[in-house]
Amino acid sequence: MNIHEYQGKLLLRDFGVPVAHGIPAFSVDEAVKAAEQLGGPVWVVKAQIHAGGRGKAGGVKVVKSIDDVRKESQRILGSTLVTHQTGPQGKQVNRLYIEEGSAIDKEFYLSMLVDRETARIAFVVSTEGGMNIEEVAHDTPEKIITFSIDPATGVMPHHGRRVAQALKLTGDLAKQAESMVTKLYAAFTGKDMALLEINPLVVTKGGQLLCLDAKVGFDDNALYRHPDVAALRDESEEDSKEIEASKYDLNYVALDGSIGCMVNGAGLAMATMDIIKLYGMEPANFLDVGGSASKDKVAAAFKIITADPKVKGILVNIFGGIMKCDVIAEGVVAAVKEVGLQVPLVVRLEGTNVELGKKIIAESGLNVVSANDLDDAAQKVVAAVKKVA
Ligand code: ADP
Ligand code: MG
Repeated sequence: MNIHEYQGKLLLRDFGVPVAHGIPAFSVDEAVKAAEQLGGPVWVVKAQIHAGGRGKAGGVKVVKSIDDVRKESQRILGSTLVTHQTGPQGKQVNRLYIEEGSAIDKEFYLSMLVDRETARIAFVVSTEGGMNIEEVAHDTPEKIITFSIDPATGVMPHHGRRVAQALKLTGDLAKQAESMVTKLYAAFTGKDMALLEINPLVVTKGGQLLCLDAKVGFDDNALYRHPDVAALRDESEEDSKEIEASKYDLNYVALDGSIGCMVNGAGLAMATMDIIKLYGMEPANFLDVGGSASKDKVAAAFKIITADPKVKGILVNIFGGIMKCDVIAEGVVAAVKEVGLQVPLVVRLEGTNVELGKKIIAESGLNVVSANDLDDAAQKVVAAVKKVA
């Protein structure tokens, strides 16, 4: 789960990390009020969406009068921001963050993440922070320094010194960096974060190290331990199909292709996606209904797939073990009766109660193409979609 910049900064502040002062605003009037409260003389009007690259897209504006706070807030709030992270459809801005303007001397990059390769929390730092970090990573990767923390010791003073050195900081600024590293690590582990990216981390003209941006993501599997974090969820930033799926405890990920997949077991779901690609099409989703889904859960899953306008064909691929084929068949039939079926449906059932499952589908009168194995099923759904198109 991701949160907004202003929420991330509030959270970091609780851990003593220096962040710029700011106030969130949900309307232009609130933005003006926030600016008056902050006092100026320089403010930054920042679009709050779950995507970076806002600055380049016009979603971050430094202004020097309350009038301009109003003007920029009017322009940004409600607009759709297209950044290199939103995709071409962009994201609508529903919240603003009005922040104190900082006089920036230098912009650095600092992030933390769980590195799967070393199975440790890693720090990634660079002197070349700001809005072009992707280019730095591409053109001059040697300017990006990475190291990881041994979980047995946790963060140590030498890690802080390493960050200071990487950022070429000395004296008091080095001390600030060292102290910040300890606090960031405490925040990261304390809140079970998956990603914490501060870009830019700046040195102000006044000689302060300050976080000017914060992108924070959490490990969903640990959210139950952090009700305060879970409460920060902004559903308007998430895929509505994924929210619906999470209500039914379905493992669902929306993708860009045209073949909807309903499968039991993550491995079989991956194999199904692979074989769809092999036959020249792309899956519209990953969906694992799990090992012991009820008829209602299966019906909910099927409805999520059919509600997706990108879906031009559906492949149900079930290997019944604990999951029984008749339960799947009943769920599919119930869902189709309720919401109809506008696209070709290919069903491959195998395993526990397969004959009963096939019978339920055959007797339902649904227009279903049945398949014998995975290969057959993928070819049939691809052919059916091509025929319609
Ligand atoms: P994004 O990464 O989405 O573009 P940022 O929050 O990093 O958004 O803002 C973009 C740029 O705007 C920063 O690199 C920084 O130069 C400037 N900026 C952001 N916040 C402030 C601030 N409080 N004071 C001064 N400049 C800022
Ligand atoms: Mg940024």
